[in-house]
Amino acid sequence: MKTLVCTTPGQFDYQSGIKPELTPNHAILRIRRIGICGTDLHAFEGTQPFFTYPRILGHELAGEIVEIDEAAAPDFKPGEVVTFIPYFNCGHCVACRAGKTNCCVSLQVSGIHMDGGMVEYLSVPTYSLVHGNGLSVDELALIEPLSIGAHGVRRANVQPGEWVLVVGAGPIGLGVMELARIAGGNVIALDINEARLAFCRNKLNVRHTVLAIAPDVAEQLAAITGGDMPTVVIDATGSQRAINKAFQYMAHGARYVLVGLQKGDVSFSHPDFHKREGTLMSSRNATRADFDHVIAAIKRGEIDPATYITHRVAFGQVRDEFAGWLDPANGVIKAMVEL
Ligand SMILES: [Zn+2]
Ligand SMILES: [Zn+2]
Repeated sequence: MKTLVCTTPGQFDYQSGIKPELTPNHAILRIRRIGICGTDLHAFEGTQPFFTYPRILGHELAGEIVEIDEAAAPDFKPGEVVTFIPYFNCGHCVACRAGKTNCCVSLQVSGIHMDGGMVEYLSVPTYSLVHGNGLSVDELALIEPLSIGAHGVRRANVQPGEWVLVVGAGPIGLGVMELARIAGGNVIALDINEARLAFCRNKLNVRHTVLAIAPDVAEQLAAITGGDMPTVVIDATGSQRAINKAFQYMAHGARYVLVGLQKGDVSFSHPDFHKREGTLMSSRNATRADFDHVIAAIKRGEIDPATYITHRVAFGQVRDEFAGWLDPANGVIKAMVEL
């Protein structure tokens, strides 16, 4: 079985691995699609927190069930095309007991803390499986990043009609924008890259976009919001500078949700935050409810995630193409690997 291993930052190697054998409470998937995510790019660059090498990356996956412990998951049958929730939780810690399986104390994320999906066959626990619901393999591989956005929007508790500033127009930010719009929010996109903002306007119908490197970002946001400023700010950059800066874009009484992750400390003016009575939250991964919400939105035609795919490669080409996806000049929004 062919596998692609990130042996050290900046280095991929194709290696031959052993095809997994079926074990109790598991299914063997033949991987069909692997979405490439910012986390994978950061892992390759060596800038992802909590990361060790060598590691097989890949957690945005669609695959066909080839073998399954049917007693453990009678709803699923060989031949079904599925995705799965790649966050494996313990089931008994304080977070799991509260239903917050996405931030389990000993969470193991496939492709991050343990080897993931850049393989031909992968064994996954049956509790993580998500029915394909007739979606395409491309759509199924995009459910996970959209669910991260759905979770951030749920954390923010976006209300109809309120202004939602989404900082960062990468794949996660796009998902946040779509789910915020579905929740009824008026979305404003902020990014340093004009091409990405144009994508938001043209493909996602985001009415308001602001270039983050403009000298008057706060003034533009005030003008768009009638002087109020956004009552929800959601970071999807994972950039320390962007995160620290966006505190000043919060309305009084606003919620600020950090979906992105970076390695350093977050710092902000306590008096400015206090005067706003701000709420600061992190948003980690997603839950099954978020996956179900995204699938329903795709089925209703409210999201067409296949429009995010800008680059496609065969599994055998990933090693040669991957470094190029780090260069903003190549305009990658979502690269999709086909098997
Ligand atoms: Zn991801
Ligand atoms: Zn747990």
